[in-house]
Amino acid sequence: MTIGKNLHTAEPIPEKALQDLTELMQSGDLFRYHAAQNAPVTLLEKEFAEMMGAKYAVAVASCSAALFLSLRALGLGDGDKVIIPGFTFAAVPSAVVHAGCEPVLVEVGENYRMDMDDFATKLTSDIKAVLVSHMRGHTSDMDTLKSACEQAGIPLIEDAAHSLGTTWNGQKIGTIGAVGCFSFQSYKLVNGGEGGIMITNDADIYAQAVIMSGAYENNWKKHQTDANIFAKYQNTLPLYNTRMSNLSAVVIRPQLAEVARRASDGLTNYEYLAAKLNQSEFVTVPDALTGEHRAPDSMQFNLNGFSDADATRFVQTCAGNGLNISIFGLQSENARVFWNWKFLKNLPELPKTRAMLMRACDLRLPAALKREHLDTLAEIILSSLASVKSSQQAAE
Ligand SMILES: *Cc1c(COP(=O)(O)O)cnc(C)c1O
Repeated sequence: MTIGKNLHTAEPIPEKALQDLTELMQSGDLFRYHAAQNAPVTLLEKEFAEMMGAKYAVAVASCSAALFLSLRALGLGDGDKVIIPGFTFAAVPSAVVHAGCEPVLVEVGENYRMDMDDFATKLTSDIKAVLVSHMRGHTSDMDTLKSACEQAGIPLIEDAAHSLGTTWNGQKIGTIGAVGCFSFQSYKLVNGGEGGIMITNDADIYAQAVIMSGAYENNWKKHQTDANIFAKYQNTLPLYNTRMSNLSAVVIRPQLAEVARRASDGLTNYEYLAAKLNQSEFVTVPDALTGEHRAPDSMQFNLNGFSDADATRFVQTCAGNGLNISIFGLQSENARVFWNWKFLKNLPELPKTRAMLMRACDLRLPAALKREHLDTLAEIILSSLASVKSSQQAAE
C-alpha cells in the first residue's frame, strides 16, 4: 500500500508571487523600510488586518517573535507568571522565557485542549497573563478563558500559529484575546518559509510592538500611524530587530486568498478520515468543542488500550506501510512534549497531559489530499491497528 502523496510536501506557491518576486529583485528593495510607502511587508500587514477584521497587524520574523513581542508590549517580564498549556510546541514556553516571564503549565486533556479545572486551580492572584496555544489547531474553551481573564483583570494572548481559518462561535481565532499571533512557517496554512504576524485592536500594544520589532528612529512613520501614540514611545523601548523581509511578504501575500479554500478542504478531509477511524474501537479522534469550526492540516488521535510496546509496534507497522505517524510521548526528542522542555526551571509533572501524550498519534493531513489518499491512509491505520491487536491477543 502506498499513499501516493508525500505528506510533507507543501502546495506550490501561487504564480503571482513569482511576478512580484521578479519585480522586487529588480528593485533591490528587500528591506521593509527601504521604500517610502507600500513595501510588500506593509501591504501584507494591511491585508492581513483587513482579512481578520483587526485594527492593526505587525509582521515579524516568526510566530515565536510575535509571542515574545506581545508579552513585552503588554509590559510583562521580570519573572511575571504566564499560564500556558502543557501541550504545545517548545517555542511557546521559550518565547515566555525569552520575554523574562515564568511559564505556569496547565494540564491538557485527552482532547488536546486546556483542562479548565486545572486552569481554575492554577489561575492564582500572581498570574499576570494567559497565553493560550491552540495546539495543532485545537481550540480550548475560549468563553471560559476570556471571562476568567476579564475577571482577573489580566490579558489573554492567543498563539494561533496553527489556527488561521478557525472560528469560535463565528469569531475568528486570534481576535478573541488582546493579541493574536500567527505563523507563516512552511508547515502552517500559509507558507512563507518563515514569518509571523500579530494582530490587535489596542493602539498601545501595536505601537510598542512595531518599535520593538525594529522600527528604529522614524521608521514607525511607514506603519499605519497615529503619530501621538508612536511619539509617546520614541527612544523608550529596546529594538529587538525581528522584522519580516519583503521577500517573505511577497511569497505570503498571494496566499491569503487561498486561506478559505485550504481551511475548508482541510476540514472536509479531516472529517472524512475521522469518521473512518472512529469506527475502530482501538482509536478515538476527539470531537471539536461546541462553537469551534476548525481548519485542520493535521490529525491527532488516541490509541485505546495499548501498552507502550504495542503503541511502538503500531507506529512501526504504519511505517512499514509507508506511513509516518508519531506518538508524541514515545519520541525522546519530541519538542511538543513538556518533559523535554528541560530549559525550564521547576518543570512540573502533569499526569493527565503525560497520559495523553503517551497515546496521542500525530499525522500530517495536507489540504491537497484527495479521497483516494485518505482511503489509503485509513486502510493503513486500521489494518495496522488490527494486526498489532490480533498478534497481542495471540500472545496472551
Ligand atoms: C509553529 C508553531 C509555533 C511557532 O511558530 P514559528 O513561526 O515557527 O515561531 C508556535 N505555536 C504553535 C502552536 C505552532 O504550531
